[in-house]
Amino acid sequence: MISEPLFTLTAGPVQPSAETVRALATPIYDQFDPYFLELYENVTEDLRIAMNIQRPPLIMHGEAVLGLEAAAASLIARDDVVLNLASGVYGKGYGYWAARYCKKLLEIEVPYDEAIDPASVESMFRTNPEIAVVSVVHSETPSGTLNPVAEIATICDRHGALLIVDSVSSFGAVEVDFEGWPADIVVVGPQKALGGPPGLSIMYISDRAWAKIDSNPDAPTASMLSISDWRDAHKAEVKFPFTPSITEIYGLHSTVAQHLREGPEVAWERHARVAASTRAGILGLGLELWPVSEEICSPSLTAFKPPDGVSGSDIRSRCREQFGVMISGGYGELADALLRIGHMGPTAHPIFAAVSVAAVGQSLVDLGVNVDVGSGVAAAMAANAGR
Ligand SMILES: *Cc1c(COP(=O)(O)O)cnc(C)c1O
Repeated sequence: MISEPLFTLTAGPVQPSAETVRALATPIYDQFDPYFLELYENVTEDLRIAMNIQRPPLIMHGEAVLGLEAAAASLIARDDVVLNLASGVYGKGYGYWAARYCKKLLEIEVPYDEAIDPASVESMFRTNPEIAVVSVVHSETPSGTLNPVAEIATICDRHGALLIVDSVSSFGAVEVDFEGWPADIVVVGPQKALGGPPGLSIMYISDRAWAKIDSNPDAPTASMLSISDWRDAHKAEVKFPFTPSITEIYGLHSTVAQHLREGPEVAWERHARVAASTRAGILGLGLELWPVSEEICSPSLTAFKPPDGVSGSDIRSRCREQFGVMISGGYGELADALLRIGHMGPTAHPIFAAVSVAAVGQSLVDLGVNVDVGSGVAAAMAANAGR
């Protein structure tokens, strides 16, 4: 029997706080019980406040890929030209969904250790003014990079295109300016920087996006992929189209309450600090970060390259077996190219930077690589000095 991990410092899902785990043990009440109806209304209102938006968001009852695919199915019409921005595995993957629903898919693809250059988006609009929808990933979790969505959104808005954003691993770790960017559909997951359980998609939908969905004859209704079916489900007097994921709602309710108690700005600062600390620790071990520059590193996770001569999977196994520390490898095409340490939600805590750097460092020593574990840990901890 394999023992449970001591520290889950992966790129998600995160290990939720004790408070969230207690909420997950709440009895399953009927979805139409007044207790649950009130809790559902409250969680959407708490989310509205945390997201700093006018209307409560909509919740879809499946892991964030449900919301992402539903966004493509609902917003993209059969005559649309779509521009997909691919700076990583998730961005590339979005293009496959978008292609199913549009007339023509254009793509800007950059190497997966880089971010999208807004100037390239501007020049794409110049040559293709008919672009109706643009899709982008905010924090590219498989490669630890962050895209300049604010700049991209301004360009899309100027050219009258609607913008779909995958903010699954960025919301909670860094500002997501839903209405200000502006974006049209933004998908958020509870299981990353919010520190909740996986299993729900939180959807921001702009007025422009609703108008487009309402006029799109192909937008799904009476379907698992339907956004419209859930439009007013947060109102106690409106019936759910099917049974919501009751336990996940309890977890989300607790996790958003904790986020609001801390304050979003404080949470962003905490993620930025722990990310800087983890990067300092990795560099202190003499290792190289995966992203081309620190400026484009995501605050939610740190991606780095295994040193020559050792495989990422051997480092991960050593960390897990010897030290009980679970970190992530690469994903998709990047499976063997990099390793990832998550610092999201409860794991964006200063001590976990030292834990992950110590475990990676000593695993490397054990595998015959000459690194100075002390330098790595000292560099990680020093990033907290004076805070
Ligand atoms: C986690 C995540 C998702 C959800 O995908 P899973 O692989 O099912 O966890 C989507 N987009 C991004 C950027 C994510 O980090």
